[in-house]
Amino acid sequence: MKTPVVDLGGCILCKVCVELAPHAFQINDAGFVEVLSLDDYSDKDTLEAIKNCPRDCITWE
Ligand code: SF4
Repeated sequence: MKTPVVDLGGCILCKVCVELAPHAFQINDAGFVEVLSLDDYSDKDTLEAIKNCPRDCITWE
């Protein structure tokens, strides 16, 4: 199963991913984007969030 990974070096904390797929991405206590643990990341909202990241810094692992 593929898992999204956020390149924090590229992330500008615009929160687009969190807004589009709050079940998959959140801002953690340290103030960084964190990928939440899901069994499946292939739902429409998660894919849309990855596609709309303005920095293209969410990749698959
Ligand atoms: S959409 Fe991309 S740049 Fe914006 S907060 Fe999420 S990971 Fe960071």
